[in-house]
Amino acid sequence: MRPDTERPVALVTGSTSGIGVAIARRLVREGYAVVLHSRSSTDAGNILASELGHAAYVQADLALEHDRARLVQEAADLWGRLDVLVNNAGISSVIPHADLGAATSGIWHELYEVNVIAPFRLVAEAEPYLRAAARRGRSACIVNISSHAGVRPKGASIPYAAAKAALNHVTRLLALSLAPDIRVNAVAPGLVDTPLTANWAAAQQLWRERSPMRRAASPDDIAQAVMMLVESDYLTGEILLSDGGLNLT
Ligand code: NAD
Repeated sequence: MRPDTERPVALVTGSTSGIGVAIARRLVREGYAVVLHSRSSTDAGNILASELGHAAYVQADLALEHDRARLVQEAADLWGRLDVLVNNAGISSVIPHADLGAATSGIWHELYEVNVIAPFRLVAEAEPYLRAAARRGRSACIVNISSHAGVRPKGASIPYAAAKAALNHVTRLLALSLAPDIRVNAVAPGLVDTPLTANWAAAQQLWRERSPMRRAASPDDIAQAVMMLVESDYLTGEILLSDGGLNLT
């Protein structure tokens, strides 16, 4: 087994629950040291870090600019390098699309801050470390977790879908700006079975009955898609729709 100092290092935001945990577990299994992160669940983060091994936890509120900078700094300091950034943390707000009044400017600002500005600012903070990783011989890699709602006019709410569409466009713009040192891609999940979506009965039924794969994704399905992008030496600027084929129907 490689010592931690030789392992490539990945920072996975929002990785104490749902999709983020599955991505973190997968990366450790594939030989990465992983920096776990969440907004508030410090105990869960530290327990998960000791369970995984080759992992450490850092708390940060990604709505706050100084926390974003501190997170990247602490992550890079842990093992002296940063090779992969997975921008997984995100927030949603369920609002019927026809209820325009409920989509207040406060909700628009909050979702844009956490789902678009935070991933962009983390990339900006991480850029020097990721370029240094490329100088060691392999392009560094950023994966943004967006949503099928950012590709099709669907999703929990219009502000959520618009923020994820913006994140997809930021992904392509950054892929152009940061190549060839840093590859930038996104995974755009459809419905994923996480505690967040456990009560979304209509969506569960839609995926069971209409999607070609006849089920929602598991967090491990999304982690597998992320890993494919991390392992590539060539793919950049891609938005990998991971919705079991629902978009075809
Ligand atoms: P989740 O609620 O389990 O995880 C979200 C994570 O984001 C948590 O760890 C939380 O701590 C973190 N987070 C939220 N706001 C934060 C803040 N201000 N500062 C720091 N961390 C913050 O949800 P999930 O379903 O695992 O979602 C993960 C990602 O996948 C999100 O970006 C979400 O939009 C996206 N996604 C989820 C689904 C789905 O069906 N579950 C579908 C498409 C896209």
